[in-house]
Amino acid sequence: MRIKDLIYLVAKNWWEIYSHPESLLAQIFKGVYFPKVSLVKAKKGWRPSYAWSSIWSTKWVFERGGRWKIGDGRQVDVRRDNWLPHGSPIIYSEDLLVELNINNVSDLLLSQGRMWNRELVEHVFCPNTALQILSLPLSVHGGVADSLFWTGSIDGVYSSKLGYSFIKDHDARSQTSASLAVSPLPANLWKKIWKSNAIPRCKELAWRAFCSLLPVRDSLWRRGVEVDPTCPLCGEENEIVSHLWLNCPMSKCFWFAYSLGLRLDSFSSLPEFLLQFLADADADDGAISRWLSASYALWEARNKVIFQDRPFSCDVVLQRAFQLELVDDPTSTPFHPAIEQAVSWCRPPQGLFKVNVDGSWRSDSTSGLGMAARNHEGLILAAAADVVERTSSALETEALALRWSIGLAISLGFRRVCLETDCLKLFQLWKKPPDGRNYLATILNDCFQYCRSFDFISLSFVRRPGNTVADYLARHASSFAGCVWIEEVPPEVETFVTADILASMPPV
Ligand SMILES: [Zn+2]
Repeated sequence: MRIKDLIYLVAKNWWEIYSHPESLLAQIFKGVYFPKVSLVKAKKGWRPSYAWSSIWSTKWVFERGGRWKIGDGRQVDVRRDNWLPHGSPIIYSEDLLVELNINNVSDLLLSQGRMWNRELVEHVFCPNTALQILSLPLSVHGGVADSLFWTGSIDGVYSSKLGYSFIKDHDARSQTSASLAVSPLPANLWKKIWKSNAIPRCKELAWRAFCSLLPVRDSLWRRGVEVDPTCPLCGEENEIVSHLWLNCPMSKCFWFAYSLGLRLDSFSSLPEFLLQFLADADADDGAISRWLSASYALWEARNKVIFQDRPFSCDVVLQRAFQLELVDDPTSTPFHPAIEQAVSWCRPPQGLFKVNVDGSWRSDSTSGLGMAARNHEGLILAAAADVVERTSSALETEALALRWSIGLAISLGFRRVCLETDCLKLFQLWKKPPDGRNYLATILNDCFQYCRSFDFISLSFVRRPGNTVADYLARHASSFAGCVWIEEVPPEVETFVTADILASMPPV
């Protein structure tokens, strides 16, 4: 057989060669062109022949329209190749693949390709992907080579007619997606992001969000993945990037409570917001890296809702954003976000102290103040109680308790504090301070002045059952007036401390 005839034969049977790398034809072809590398993984190379360039230029058709049938899994790259029935595999973390040295599908198989390593698959992939993988049938005898099949035909066999209609469909799809493509962000603005102090994975996430490259549910659904396209946080609209970042009621509340105090109502897309945020003279490096950390915390919380069935809690996301900032921005400026409500007492992240605050108002006598500071294990660092002369309202007493607690926290040397009150009105005033005409304004302004002494300070709202320690101390303040306990509480309060520790146990 002359070489010319061979090339003709190959061009006529390209799919056959491509899909069955072990076939005789493929072996001959491989012998001619690539004695050492797999045909499917072959590169175009330098000065390719006409026949090879034609074959190579249509390789994408096979890659997208064809799907790998898993035999021994040795030919198939876990991340790059198309081998799952519905879209690309969703991995918990890229680091896992590196850590566990998983490259090809064969790394997920046991006993020579006869069964899936279920434990490993469930450890590495999100539930939907793991389910897809584990339902792929394997040969009970093993030793079968991987092969490509054409997904658009019943028997898996490719024909040029099927290929043609696939290319036509693909063109139509890419035209619609091209019209949705975002306008690029000017290079000088991107530099602000890359140069910021935020950790690299936060920057990368922002870039992927900006370019609409995140696997949000709506885009997965449009790509034919069987998922519910609605937002996992609010369930009200389809989950697209701009909904998640800007319009979702849950994330809106997070952004508002966050230190940047962002109001996002006026923006319709993430690129539009970012353009303005970055171009803004005020968006210094601190603000940019805070936004990046917060975005990451938001995305992470969204993933936990989907993959770990954890509820979305503004409080938790804010604290996580703060943790990420600590990693990247040791010189972060003090700020005082107001954090959403929780029902029971929860532990602060390591490195932060939680200070619960309460005021107990009596119209006919002295009012009581109580506070308790605890660490990430729920252990008491300090507690205190005091009385104040007749105050004019319950709200004023709560504000006084807050100011008194912040002052105490400063004298106790705490620098990273999340305050917590069970007074909703006070919490709302913290978010939107009054304009200075009454005593409340004075007390709150004092608080904000005090805030400058902290590296981090926030105020969250917890319902009464989450504030029992401070509440007890405030109600019984007259018998404890002026007491400060270090690393202990009065014996009758210990039950409440223990109850909070138990209620806030991390899930096992
Ligand atoms: Zn939503």
